[in-house]
Amino acid sequence: MTVKITNKIVGYRVKKAEDETPTEKQAPVHAETKPVEMNENIERPDFLLGTTYKIKPPVAEHAMYITINDILLNEDTDHESRQPYEVFINSKSMEHFQWVIALTRVISAVFRKGGDVTFLVEELRSVYDPNGGYFKKGGVFMPSLVAEIGAVIEKHLKAIGLLESEEMSETTKRILAEKRAEFEASQSSATNDDTSADYPPNATMCGKCNTKAVIVMDGCATCLACGDSKCG
Ligand SMILES: [Zn+2]
Repeated sequence: MTVKITNKIVGYRVKKAEDETPTEKQAPVHAETKPVEMNENIERPDFLLGTTYKIKPPVAEHAMYITINDILLNEDTDHESRQPYEVFINSKSMEHFQWVIALTRVISAVFRKGGDVTFLVEELRSVYDPNGGYFKKGGVFMPSLVAEIGAVIEKHLKAIGLLESEEMSETTKRILAEKRAEFEASQSSATNDDTSADYPPNATMCGKCNTKAVIVMDGCATCLACGDSKCG
């Protein structure tokens, strides 16, 4: 702005830096940039890290391969995080093809929306097959194929640190191993049952971890898989 000075100049002073209004101040150079959070506008990089899990549900003719690809956000910063980005399921079996494709697309969309995606695990794991589910090798009960896909996603979210994994303490493991040895020794006629090879054949279902691993000893029902115990 130009101002024409009509009066006689009687004095002057040099404008100091403080006189500047705050709005003219430049943003600090080392401003903390906000960490990027998962959102659907993030463009898919050409390269993603992935993990493939193999499952062999008895309800499908062939094994299924579940691949979960992750994206690294804020790489090389303090806010670096690995987030699931997409899921693919491959199998030679075609009988479940239609809904499996639909399910993977919906799960991938939820992953890319961002926010807390761990709710998917509970949602999928609580799907019950009206034909009655099945036992996995090792005696873990799966109420449906959808639930097993949920279990795989749970495993993956634990592996990348989005879900806490409840590791059993060494002491608990040792006590369970001792209990198991004692129980097996007390059973004179141990038969081998293929479906629950990891636990004694007459073990019953655990309500806490869905594994056929509960034995009764000295009046206490103890689960050899998760350690859950009830006495009396
Ligand atoms: Zn259990």
